[in-house]
Amino acid sequence: MNRVFIGVGSNIEPRNHYLERAIHQLKQHEEITVIAKSSIYETAPVGFTEQEDFLNMVIELETALKSIDLLRYCQQIEMEQGRKRTIKNGPRTLDLDILLYNEDIVMSPQLTIPHPRLHERAFVLVPFNEIAPDVFVPKLERTITQLLKELSTTEVEQVVKWKGK
Ligand code: ADP
Ligand code: MG
Repeated sequence: MNRVFIGVGSNIEPRNHYLERAIHQLKQHEEITVIAKSSIYETAPVGFTEQEDFLNMVIELETALKSIDLLRYCQQIEMEQGRKRTIKNGPRTLDLDILLYNEDIVMSPQLTIPHPRLHERAFVLVPFNEIAPDVFVPKLERTITQLLKELSTTEVEQVVKWKGK
């Protein structure tokens, strides 16, 4: 069985509804088991900042799927939830990113694992650290807690637990 972490994000209302539906759809797949999920966090957008705040979480899965097949299933879920690929880093109903897949290193045109921006994103590392602080990130050769400590306090403080609707 493969141990996988996925980052889930949405910044179009109803944001929490998109996150919950994504988890539900992952569970629907007979070769995917959801093992853990972080709390939901709220974060100001990074990159293209003229957009609504994001809700983000990290979930842990066990799956028999190969990483490329898991990516395809995630993209199918994104499509079903009405995601339109417009501006890079722009508003989206749902974003599913494969953060880690065992300790594999994947570098193909469609897929990069560990996720290339994992270490610079507080909105990934804060929820990740809640569920799996000691997980080792290959290539970066650090645990999640170590990577989180390398971010500035200001960035980390901007990721706050979502207080609900
Ligand atoms: P982003 O998540 O960076 O905002 P998108 O969700 O639009 O961007 O993804 C763009 C492309 O990133 C996808 O077509 C996918 O093939 C590629 N990609 C590369 N590595 C990964 C990964 N680890 N998880 C998800 N998508 C990835
Ligand atoms: Mg994505």
